Amino acid sequence: MELELTPQQVELRDAARKLANEVFKDKAARWDRNEEYPEENKKLLCELGYLGLSIDEAYGGSGLGLVDTYLVIEEIAKVDLATALIVHEQNVSPRIVATCAPEALRSALMPKFISGELECSIAWTEPEAGSDGAAITTTATADGDGYLVNGQKVFTTYGDRADLHLVYARFEPSKGAKGVGTLLVRKDSPGLRVHKIPHKMGVRGASENELFFDNVRVPADHVVTHGSADSSRGFVQTLQVYNATRVGMGVMALGVAEGAFELARDYMLVRKQFGQRLADMQGLRWMMADMWIQIEAARSLCYRALAAVDAGRADPCLSSVAKVQATEMAQQVVLNCQQMFGGYGYFGLLPLERMLRDVRMLTITGGTTQTQKNAIANHIFPR
Ligand SMILES: Cc1cc2nc3c(=O)[nH]c(=O)nc-3n(C[C@H](O)[C@H](O)[C@H](O)COP(=O)(O)OP(=O)(O)OC[C@H]3O[C@@H](n4cnc5c(N)ncnc54)[C@H](O)[C@@H]3O)c2cc1C
Repeated sequence: MELELTPQQVELRDAARKLANEVFKDKAARWDRNEEYPEENKKLLCELGYLGLSIDEAYGGSGLGLVDTYLVIEEIAKVDLATALIVHEQNVSPRIVATCAPEALRSALMPKFISGELECSIAWTEPEAGSDGAAITTTATADGDGYLVNGQKVFTTYGDRADLHLVYARFEPSKGAKGVGTLLVRKDSPGLRVHKIPHKMGVRGASENELFFDNVRVPADHVVTHGSADSSRGFVQTLQVYNATRVGMGVMALGVAEGAFELARDYMLVRKQFGQRLADMQGLRWMMADMWIQIEAARSLCYRALAAVDAGRADPCLSSVAKVQATEMAQQVVLNCQQMFGGYGYFGLLPLERMLRDVRMLTITGGTTQTQKNAIANHIFPR
């Protein structure tokens, strides 16, 4: 598959690189230190149209592909994962709405997602249903002209600030995974309580939250996918969007790895010990060469997986391969780059310490490394 970027893609990538370096880079430590959402970055991203990159032009988006979208996200992740996550997350939940929701809901919400007026979290994981996402127990029970939602969610990113929560719930408990659907719950709904989870390790510019639903009433027209085996808007449809964008976690990891690599390379050119630059020490040169190989491999896998989605040939196994390779690679690369700084890398004055904490998230979210390997193994040994 041809991975050569078009002149337009180069222009898009370079503009994002400039923005990341000139505006986002120096502020990245602040969001982490203060556990503060990068509000001013989000505002700028909206103004520049970065939140609607992959959304259909009919809804006010740019109608670009996922390759284009993640070229931008990769550049931002090189300097600030918390800000890159804003573009990623606002690419996932709106894509689910754009792909799966009834037209009335799409046309009402999509332009507001793109302008930044509305934010939407994804509330799927529960205390007893993490990797086993089909085991959720939150229910959506038909009641009059709507539904009553009861249950609990955990780890909902932006749950404390999102205007809407895309909630996974059992519409028809007897139908197993096929009875799971999604509906949009407004943040001010009576019966909804939100609790921010404290002591987060990294990406502190984003918060994770517990959501408690106690007879929360949701109008019927807020159903995105009805959990019904014979429904044309079923659970499987939302999974397809995840399969397509899971690799986004890999691209963000790739960006962090590249950012750390560049810092280490620049330092090695100036730091001298034993009368020699680090860049001239054979053992360290090979470490850098090994990292370069891994980064190049991750880049190829991720963009191949994204190009397949853009071409309408999404390959869930390739997405899993790309996600695992890139996220596991990034953890190791950031660790090795930190090593290049010796004692200085251990302190928060340099971005390496933050990057190490940040990148840890990416092997867990969007499907853990282990569950992705299960999916890959099922591809190798079909049941
Ligand atoms: C920072 C962060 C942000 C998140 N954001 C969101 C969000 O916005 N919305 C949301 O719904 N969720 C979110 N999550 C939740 C995330 O998707 C889950 O943490 C993840 O799916 C794993 O579930 P779990 O934590 O319950 O771990 P478990 O499922 O309990 O897994 C524990 C361990 O067992 C392994 N394991 C589980 N099953 C198997 C198996 N069959 N074979 C081998 N190993 C296995 C796992 O890989 C893991 O190592 C977020 C999590 C984090 C950390």
